[in-house]
Amino acid sequence: MRTRFGSSPYIHELPSSRVPAYPRFRGDRAADVVIIGAGLTGCAVAHACAAAGLDTLVLEAERIGRGGTGRGAGLLLPDPGPSFRALAAAHGVRDARRVFEAWRRGAMEGAALLRRLRINCQLAPRDSMLVARGDEERALRREFDARREAGLELTWQSPKQLHTRMKLDAAAGVRMRDSFTLDPYRACLGLLTAAVRRGAECFEQSRVMKVRFTRRHADVIAAHGTIRAGKVVVATGSATAEFKPLRRHLKRRETYFALTAPVPAAVRKQLGDPAIVLADMGTPPHRIRWAPGDRLLVGGADQGETPPKTRSAVLVQRTGQLMYELLTMYPAISGLQAEYGWDASYGEAYDGLMYIGAHRNYPHHLFALGGSGSATGAFVASRILLRALQGSPDKADEVFGWTR
Ligand SMILES: Cc1cc2nc3c(=O)[nH]c(=O)nc-3n(C[C@H](O)[C@H](O)[C@H](O)COP(=O)(O)OP(=O)(O)OC[C@H]3O[C@@H](n4cnc5c(N)ncnc54)[C@H](O)[C@@H]3O)c2cc1C
Repeated sequence: MRTRFGSSPYIHELPSSRVPAYPRFRGDRAADVVIIGAGLTGCAVAHACAAAGLDTLVLEAERIGRGGTGRGAGLLLPDPGPSFRALAAAHGVRDARRVFEAWRRGAMEGAALLRRLRINCQLAPRDSMLVARGDEERALRREFDARREAGLELTWQSPKQLHTRMKLDAAAGVRMRDSFTLDPYRACLGLLTAAVRRGAECFEQSRVMKVRFTRRHADVIAAHGTIRAGKVVVATGSATAEFKPLRRHLKRRETYFALTAPVPAAVRKQLGDPAIVLADMGTPPHRIRWAPGDRLLVGGADQGETPPKTRSAVLVQRTGQLMYELLTMYPAISGLQAEYGWDASYGEAYDGLMYIGAHRNYPHHLFALGGSGSATGAFVASRILLRALQGSPDKADEVFGWTR
């Protein structure tokens, strides 16, 4: 089998007949809210706005969901990415707890919304397990104690439990509930379809070039027209050229994924519980989950942005590296090939959290930017931004703001 490098299985395996197409934006008009970027975040915000009765318009530079969203791990996790202890050191225990609670709620509400809208995105409930090897055990114990003290729900796993459940030799683990796996591309397309049913309008291949603002409104300027907006939501994944001054807040990073060929039934028996998403404490960490078709998806090997001319060689090397690292955890997969190997770029804030909220230099704007390690940030952002758009922001949301 030859590995398909560079394309995401979610996008590649969805027949084009099932991908809705939206027109290009042309002309001049007005809207309550203009959303820039139709990844999962933009689409979740669009659905929340349209459902709340706001006149909502979405502008996507390329095609819907084909940015970071269509290239993710397909996880909806209750965990915001950075450790509890790191967040507590940066923001205090109270705010760290708020972030974890917001994330857990975001995962649960996101899953409930996708179910309620009957979006066929292979949503499946999972537990997640963070495992430590050798000298990482003490750090994991401290993280476990800090989360327990903050009232967060998780259980300690002994090496024996890990071996029985995950067929893994590890020093210790912690197990968390309220995780899900999903196809993020289908989730994104489905949310936008639901938003359009509620009255939102969407335009593809309609890049926003610039936003001008006065005291009363913002003018969103696309290639073939302008929209006068009450509010502009910027959901472009990272800070793009149009918001250059914000770039210094988000370090450009790349993450890599490999999806294996189908794992034979005899080998599957020697691997871990398929209902558990596994993460380790490596720097950067690995994430492993089962994907439809009895395939294993492994993500990790994150690094700073590589120059475009070396990118395809780096991708081949990183895919091989991820497959090798998977093999060291699960020797039973020996001989298994990667069916896909792909990468995704993201912007990382200094504390690893998504930026969600207003910025004092950009009147009428709200932002939801930064990789969050799973799809949950889209749902957390949609709640926070809807509150802000309705004029009832919550003080607790400030931990996600630009002033942090
Ligand atoms: C290590 C890691 C693992 C991750 N795993 C997952 C995962 O498992 N599942 C998951 O869903 N997410 C995952 N993510 C997060 C993912 O990268 C996204 O952050 C998330 O899916 C939400 O996407 P988004 O909508 O914020 O951004 P994107 O999906 O990148 O969407 C931004 C959109 O804005 C558009 N755009 C940019 N500039 C303009 C412009 N000027 N005008 C108009 N449109 C514009 C882009 O074309 C793009 O479609 C992971 C991130 C990291 C760092």
